[in-house]
Amino acid sequence: MQDPTLLTPGPLTTSLATRMAMLRDWGSWDGAFNALTTSVRRDLVEIVNGAADHVCVPLQGSGTFAVEAALATLVPRSGRVLVPDNGAYCKRIVRILDRLGREAVALAQREDTPADPARIDAALAADPGITHVALVHCETGTGILNPLPRIAAVVAARGRRLIVDAMSSFGALPIDAATLPFDALVSASGKCLEGAPGMGFIIVRRTAIEAAAGQCPSLVLDLHDQWTYMEATGQWRFTPPTHVVAALRSALDQHRAGGGQPGRLARYAANCAALVDGMRELGFRSFLDDSVQAPIIVTFLAPADPAYDFGEMYRRVRDMGFMLYPGKLTEADTFRVGCIGDIDAHGLRRAVAAIRDSLTAMGVRTFSPA
Ligand SMILES: *Cc1c(COP(=O)(O)O)cnc(C)c1O
Repeated sequence: MQDPTLLTPGPLTTSLATRMAMLRDWGSWDGAFNALTTSVRRDLVEIVNGAADHVCVPLQGSGTFAVEAALATLVPRSGRVLVPDNGAYCKRIVRILDRLGREAVALAQREDTPADPARIDAALAADPGITHVALVHCETGTGILNPLPRIAAVVAARGRRLIVDAMSSFGALPIDAATLPFDALVSASGKCLEGAPGMGFIIVRRTAIEAAAGQCPSLVLDLHDQWTYMEATGQWRFTPPTHVVAALRSALDQHRAGGGQPGRLARYAANCAALVDGMRELGFRSFLDDSVQAPIIVTFLAPADPAYDFGEMYRRVRDMGFMLYPGKLTEADTFRVGCIGDIDAHGLRRAVAAIRDSLTAMGVRTFSPA
């Protein structure tokens, strides 16, 4: 039987070529593997046009490990971090800062509303002790897009530093390091780059990582240490995720062959449109307004019909070849469908049909929320 298509953005569906790239074992001390690491780091910086002032520091682990490492390495003990909060991954950043003993100031917002540059500006003006802003670019908890360029401009104008969780946007949404002022962008192998999960990375301003020596309270998360060791030896500190790096090398080649970031965005936008149009035809309503929806993951309100049950729908849709994602909202009963991975609009139309047929078999007659 064919593996189900993952509509769960991370892990997601990878291409056969990406999976085939994991069939070799690599020696971590060997020059061939070091060359692979070097080329991956170079290409990741190039995707955001950062070669002039930024470097790439990869880190073993899932995306959250890299987010925590970026905050732990770049925010000094005396730092204070403003976190615009409109979703679950923003709240995770606040929890990380609490654990690190770094002061966090959460700026709470509605989950259906993008982070507001004017409110961020006012918060920075009111509190000169805030040293950094930590922004989630695409808040995957709902799928909302936060206005990174406008917020970066506000943060720079106030002379503060910006750390961006670009986990679910890097490689698909436009980010230009040459014009956008930020200290660090964090992402990972297994999201829009469509590699295998297991490696995070930060694209960091060279002067910011140079200034971060000795700041990180953790050994394994110390990105300054990782960077200086890698620059000196070409190797990773500690065992590298060799197969994941090899898969990412192949995924980056496919990213380029598919038109780079603009090509990826075009495919995801077509996926998102096919999904949303198809679901609306059935009577579903998406949680977000189209004007703030990123083409990465879509949150749908659950049908009000008493025969609806997410677990039952999930199992039936999975048996028809598609894996869905539960909702991540506190305020409404929802579920999510990813638009990213090695899938196309035709695949998403088939997924919509599987949702329709599963719910119909369950006795759900109307798909609209309340
Ligand atoms: C996926 C994701 C992360 C990292 O989550 P992991 O489960 O650690 O991979 C962080 N932030 C955002 C916005 C994400 O989408």
